[in-house]
Formats: sequence, structure tokens, C-alpha cells
Amino acid sequence: MSIDRSTVRIIGAGPTGALLAILLQRRGHTVELYEGRSDPRGVTADSGRSINLALADRGIHALQLAGVFQALHQALLPMRGRLIHHAEGGTSLQPYGQRPNELIYSISRHRLNQTLLDVAARQPGVSVHFEHRFEAAEFDERMALIRDLRQDRLIRVPMQPLLATDGAGSWMRRRMTMMQLIEAQETDLAHGYKELSIPADAAGRYKMAADALHIWPRGNYMLIALPNEDGSFTATLFLAKHGETSFESLTDKVAIEEFLSRSFPDARELMPDCIAEFQEHPVGFLGTVLAKPWHYRDMTALIGDSAHAIVPFHGQGMNCCFEDCVEFDGCMGRHTSWEGVFAEFGALRKPNTDAIGAMALDNYLEMRERVANPKFQLQQALSLELERRFPQRFIPRYSMVMFHHEIPYQTAQQRGTVQTQLLDELTSDGVASLADVDFKRAEREIHARLAPIS
Ligand SMILES: Cc1cc2nc3c(=O)[nH]c(=O)nc-3n(C[C@H](O)[C@H](O)[C@H](O)COP(=O)(O)OP(=O)(O)OC[C@H]3O[C@@H](n4cnc5c(N)ncnc54)[C@H](O)[C@@H]3O)c2cc1C
Repeated sequence: MSIDRSTVRIIGAGPTGALLAILLQRRGHTVELYEGRSDPRGVTADSGRSINLALADRGIHALQLAGVFQALHQALLPMRGRLIHHAEGGTSLQPYGQRPNELIYSISRHRLNQTLLDVAARQPGVSVHFEHRFEAAEFDERMALIRDLRQDRLIRVPMQPLLATDGAGSWMRRRMTMMQLIEAQETDLAHGYKELSIPADAAGRYKMAADALHIWPRGNYMLIALPNEDGSFTATLFLAKHGETSFESLTDKVAIEEFLSRSFPDARELMPDCIAEFQEHPVGFLGTVLAKPWHYRDMTALIGDSAHAIVPFHGQGMNCCFEDCVEFDGCMGRHTSWEGVFAEFGALRKPNTDAIGAMALDNYLEMRERVANPKFQLQQALSLELERRFPQRFIPRYSMVMFHHEIPYQTAQQRGTVQTQLLDELTSDGVASLADVDFKRAEREIHARLAPIS
């Protein structure tokens, strides 16, 4: 069973659009990819969007299925855990998992985009049109209007179909919402982010452990840093946009210096340019997008961030988008009409993207506050111990999300809720270390409340 081998148009050649083009071509479609920006290949990365991303099992699985992973392998920097920089000084490592493959990887966004585009553009039947911006859709006429920015002329392309992978600020989604074809909600977080850099030392070496994601949790705000290939780290400061200590209030050099030196003294010493960067770099927006449905008839569907942007605190946005592409590809194999593909895709995917959206929000509190709390650290250690003892029934929620692509996000969320209750119960009443935990009770409760993972 398969759909007509029609030409598929895609707007937005970010990670989702490029991966989707590769998978569509594999199914025999001719693909036209329209991207508003210029070709990122052969140019250096611009700042503004996050420079590096955490890639985990779901993303890796999708890249492997598409045959792209091998080309990226060299560029992956393994991170084994969170290295916490405590407010009172000192550091501690919280491993992400307990098996050798339970790692996440830092990868350059620019390198990833370039590689995906390279592979996509090499496929016969895939054409990529840079500096072509989608501007409007005429649903009655089944036509989309795309502006060729080089020649400043509008071209009309048929929507049979036109897939919208145009990111969190999707024009297609806003257009469909305005025309009341779908309902969508964009919720901005009260916090924004700013990127700062930790350069390599004079010999080009990393100034901190390179195999970890560094976190400076400070309650209402935090700094994180991920390694880059050239010995540097990109640090990201997450902070309230407005209020007493906020991006809005921190404007002059003295105040910025005082804030950074007081909050992150060890990081401040490693960031010689941070005051200028703080003043020059834009504040990035963070938010969650919820939309329903994700498609209109057989003409268009939202895929990736355009359908369900999430906050970045689980390092899953792009991983989730890659998983979308795999699910979409699976739906194409089961339907003879585009409307059928779109409807099944939305029905399968939405409960899972809602779940990761909620877990990503929850993880902000975990990263900026809970990781520094001794009770949380005990519960983390207990989670790993319970996984060792009952691997069929108890897998830490973080591990389900990051290392088990076969476990849907929604299942991870549901089981995670039960597990959190269990961990609370097992560490109450004066339990101060693993030696104090009643493992007989743990076994009874786990068997009663958590079915084996199929
Ligand atoms: C600070 C931050 C950190 C993050 N960290 C991680 C992480 O560690 N791990 C992770 O998995 N995810 C992370 N993410 C999320 C990740 O960046 C996104 O989920 C991912 O980029 C979404 O891919 P996309 O292709 O759907 O959208 P985008 O990456 O936004 O790509 C959309 C593309 O469409 C183009 N476009 C937009 N409008 C038009 C138009 N009108 N016409 C033509 N083209 C258009 C854009 O130029 C762009 O190329 C992070 C996000 C942020 C903000």
C-alpha cells in the first residue's frame, strides 16, 4: 500500500525539513525544499540560535534509519553526566545512566544542518531552494506563495501536499490559526536565554571536563555549558526576562560583572569576553507550542517544532522532531491518501509530543534547583539502584526519555509519575542513604504498581 508518488514541497530546511526530504525521497517522491535563509554550507555558524545541541537515542535512531548517522559520527562529543557546580563551591558528577552506551552527545547545530542538507541535496529528485520564503497559503486554490528573495518575485507552488517544517514561529501554523483551520497556542516562558563562550586554553585544550554537561543551578536561574569540537564550550544563561534579577535589569557592565562573578565565580574566570557578549548577544525566547489538528485536509501538515515546539530543558526538541520524521515515514507506508497519513500521524504523535512538552517544562525546575538538593541526589542514586535490581520494571524517567527510543514519551511520563511517588515514599522517614532504604518494600511496591516494560 502506498500513496501516489507525487512531488512533495517542504517549507523550512532545518533539521526536520532536511531529514524528512531524505525519507520522502527514499519512498520515491520528488522533493522541493524551500528555505528562507541562505545556504549554510561553506559558511561559518551565525550566533543567535543555540550553537550546540544534545543528541540522544531517539535522534540517533532516526539518523541511523535515514543513513545519515555515520556522516556525523566524528562530530559527536559524548557527555556522561551532569557536572554540577555548586553555589558554595566544588563540583559533583551525576551520571546520566549506568551502561556504557547511556550517554548523550553534544553536536554543533551548524554541522548537523550542513550534513543533513548535504545528504538531502545529493539525493536524485531532491532540490533545495535557499532564500525562498513561504509567505502565504491560498487554501481555496490549493496554492502556496513563496518569495524568491534573490530576485524579489513571488512564485506559486501547488500544495499537493506542502509540508510545513518552518519551526517554532511557523508562518504556516499562524496562517492556519488565523483562518481558523486549526487551533494553536503559543506560551512564552517568563525566562529567556543568552549564549556566552568559554574559549579553549592557549594550547587549544578544554578548560573543564569535556565529557559532561556542566550546570550551575542557582534556584531561579542557571548556567549550563556544552563542549564544542575546538576545545571551547558554549555556555547558556537561563534567566527571567523581567524583574529584579533579569535580562531587563542587568544592563550596565558593573551590574553584569557583579551578577556573573557572584553567581558563577568559577565560570566567570573562564569567560574573558562574557561582559561584552552579555551586552551584545540577543535574549532568546523560549516557549511551548500546542496545536490541534496539525493538518488541513490533504494539503498541508505541520511537522517538527512548527507543530509542537517545546522548551529546551530536556534536550529533546530536535530529538523529538527526528522521531516525528520516522513516525511520518511509517504512516506513509500504511496509507493511500495524504489525508490518511496526516490524520494518523497527528493521532499517534500528539499524546507523545504533549508528554515531552510537559516533561521538558518540569525539567527546568530539576536542572536549576533540584539537582543541587541532597534528597534529589539520593533519589537519583536510588533510581539507578532500582533499575539494577528490577530492570524490567523500573527505568529512571530521564533514561526512558534519553536512552530508550522504543518507549514512547507518554509511557515515560506515566511511569515516571508512579516512580516519583515511589521514590518519595522510599526516601521518607529519615532515610539518608541507600543503606537505609527498605528494598523488600521497594520490590513489593514495584511489582504492584509497575507492569513489566514490554
Ligand atoms: C536554546 C535552545 C537549546 C536547544 N537545545 C536542544 C538540545 O540540546 N537538544 C535537542 O534535541 N533540541 C534542542 N533544542 C530544540 C531544537 O533546536 C529544535 O527542536 C529544532 O531545531 C527544531 O527543528 P525544526 O527543523 O523543526 O525547526 P528549526 O530548527 O526552527 O528550522 C526551521 C527552518 O525553517 C526555516 N523557515 C522559517 N520560516 C520560513 C519561511 N516562512 N519560509 C521558508 N523557510 C522558513 C528556518 O530558516 C529554519 O531553517 C534547543 C532549542 C533552543 C532554543
